[in-house]
Amino acid sequence: MKSVAETANDSVSASARSGMRRIRLVVYGRVQGVGFRPAVYRAVTGAGCGGRVYNTPGGVSVEIEGPQRAVTRLTGHFADILPPRARVDEIVTEELDPAGEKEFHIDVSSTAGESLLPIPPDLAICSECAGEITDRRGRRRGYGFNTCTCCGPRFTIADGVPFDRRTSVMEDFPLCEKCLGEFGDPADRRFHAQTMSCPSCGPEAQFIPIARGRDKGVEFAPSAGDEAICAAAAALKAGRTVAIKGIGGFHLACNAADDAVIQRIRTLKGRPHKALAVMVRDLSTAARICRMEPGAGDMLRGEKAPIVLLEKKDTPLISGSVAPGLGRVGVMPAYTPLHRLLFEHPDTPEALVMTSCNRSEEPIAIDRETVRTDLSDMVDGILDHNRRIENRCDDSVAGMVGGAAVVFRRSRGYAPEPVMLPADSPPVFATGAMWKNAFTLTKGRRAFMSPHIGDVSDADNAAYFEAAYRKFSVLLGIEPEILACDMHPDYPTSVFARRMAQGRDLPLHRVQHHYAHVLSCLAEHRAQGPVIGVSMDGTGYGEDGHIWGGEILVAGLQGYSRRFHLKYAPMPGGERAVSEPYRMALSHLAGVFGADDAVAIMGRIAPGLPLEAVASLAWRREFSPLTSSCGRLFDAVASMLGIRHISTYEGQAACELEAVAAAGVKGGYEYGFEGDEIVFPGTIAGICEDIAAGADRCVISARFHNTIAGMIEESCLMLRESDGLDTVALSGGVMQNTYLLGRCLKRLRRHDFTVLVHGEVPPNDGGISLGQALYVNARHTS
Ligand code: ZN
Ligand code: ZN
Ligand code: FE
Repeated sequence: MKSVAETANDSVSASARSGMRRIRLVVYGRVQGVGFRPAVYRAVTGAGCGGRVYNTPGGVSVEIEGPQRAVTRLTGHFADILPPRARVDEIVTEELDPAGEKEFHIDVSSTAGESLLPIPPDLAICSECAGEITDRRGRRRGYGFNTCTCCGPRFTIADGVPFDRRTSVMEDFPLCEKCLGEFGDPADRRFHAQTMSCPSCGPEAQFIPIARGRDKGVEFAPSAGDEAICAAAAALKAGRTVAIKGIGGFHLACNAADDAVIQRIRTLKGRPHKALAVMVRDLSTAARICRMEPGAGDMLRGEKAPIVLLEKKDTPLISGSVAPGLGRVGVMPAYTPLHRLLFEHPDTPEALVMTSCNRSEEPIAIDRETVRTDLSDMVDGILDHNRRIENRCDDSVAGMVGGAAVVFRRSRGYAPEPVMLPADSPPVFATGAMWKNAFTLTKGRRAFMSPHIGDVSDADNAAYFEAAYRKFSVLLGIEPEILACDMHPDYPTSVFARRMAQGRDLPLHRVQHHYAHVLSCLAEHRAQGPVIGVSMDGTGYGEDGHIWGGEILVAGLQGYSRRFHLKYAPMPGGERAVSEPYRMALSHLAGVFGADDAVAIMGRIAPGLPLEAVASLAWRREFSPLTSSCGRLFDAVASMLGIRHISTYEGQAACELEAVAAAGVKGGYEYGFEGDEIVFPGTIAGICEDIAAGADRCVISARFHNTIAGMIEESCLMLRESDGLDTVALSGGVMQNTYLLGRCLKRLRRHDFTVLVHGEVPPNDGGISLGQALYVNARHTS
């Protein structure tokens, strides 16, 4: 980007030579709802200049008039005057004739023009606001809805553009006189803070106990304000569950140290093993629960405040049933003032389980009535408030790899911040895949990814997908002209796209799943390719009708070719092999030793399972589709090691296999290349030998990880040799495995490959829609 001063000086007008100058800067990026206009106001008036600043649906317009030198200095150092949470993507400048304006004004927002970045993501509480709610003398002491220009809810409370109080649910709360004074005072840090309020004019917290016939112990009375916090804290201390209304939905909270209440939540949610996130007051508590890797503190302290997966310490603060079988636990800071106040209370446990308030895989609850009617069996009390949630938004999830963050679920704090595409194109709606769904809508070069939708094979989530699409498209003012979906004909998202394409007579692109994974990685890095696209994944529909998932591609914006893939193996019983890893163990063992020996081997490891019946299925193609999936190979190994034969959540076996992998183990198993197939009989046999020799499964797991990393390394070296490519993109659900990802990075960088890894877009299916959108963008440049 050209600096503002450069562009501005290109075209100094005649009137400017008179000594006065007026210039208009139209600023695009994250510039609304972050205190941009007040910061500009202070800087411009401080420099003795006049003019005006106003939000437009496209960004912010700033007109500055004053002595030439002052105006030039201001525009030349424009970045320095911006508030901390603003981000500038582009500035368009225009010289204007001086109008003799000496004063500087913040104008009422204009609604003219095209909406480009109307709404910022939700922002975690800032340190000033956090200080105020515990300041005994301040008027915002104990106030659970304290916000300012650089913190608080945004996307989740927005119902129109541009982002303003009157286009958000804060319209329900007219400012009191004192707040009005702050809002209008250029010297105040809440000058033009759209979401601000105070105890006398803003939302209020409420505690509502849920009475249950079978639970006679509920004695908490309904209460409001400070008392509501006390009641919630007391309930949590007493081992009860509290549904807490947050930014993008209700959490179900309980004491993270209390095994009994966690087990109760797990039973009622229908979530026997999947890890539960934990909320803590601050970084020092987080550091007692988990090992703070480099960069983790910044993530936790930052404005996005995602759940960060970190290595679990041995601590009484969290029960073993928070993240059973896993080495890491997801931790997030208290990111709203209400959460902060709850943790200030002496009764509140130091760590709280904070899981989404819903049944497993259903959309997160956003209103009291749903909690009260549908979820009353798992909720003992509700810490509610009267600020509506307009847009549902789950917590985001991130992990750390070598000091860099990788987002696994891109939702609160990220959505709807756009990813910039290479070129302008007509508006695109990319529907994504099936699991961990998020869709993408584009406008011009901007790709807006939706918050996390979830598994759309669930009927409620499929309905949520459609509703969220309608809302998002209205909110962003995007009417799609081109559609994209996965190649799988039966994904609900593909069916929806097909119907929409037929109904509106729009073109529809079906994008191969693993190519879309690689494209999503290219989108994030603004790379064109071709690159070596390593797409190690669970399952995705392949061009040949088989189920792909262990693909080494040469891929760029213009297309891809499949160069290597894991050798196909049958998935005995189809879909069931995804949730029952022992089926894949049988399949891979049978491929090496034959069905009888496979059954005999697994009989020693997993007695009591219908091994013979499953093994006999394996060779009947009508029941057992073929897959090249890398995720399924992880499943097979996890089962062979006796770690997990039947999963209760997606990816469980692979996660638990990663969790046991020992550090510092060198060496791996044999694998080979046969044409375009990568074969692992040596690996399967080697693991069997190690098991027979009594080797530690932690060592076997590490060797297996090394094997996969070595296979990826060798594939890349061969493609460098044949195609002269030096850049590798690592994507697919398997790349959530940070143990594997770390080793791949090390090996590839040792050979001086440029390695593109995911940061802000998930490597799993949560990123697929962005890849689909880029596919269309590259073909329909306008
Ligand atoms: Zn603040
Ligand atoms: Zn007020
Ligand atoms: Fe995938």
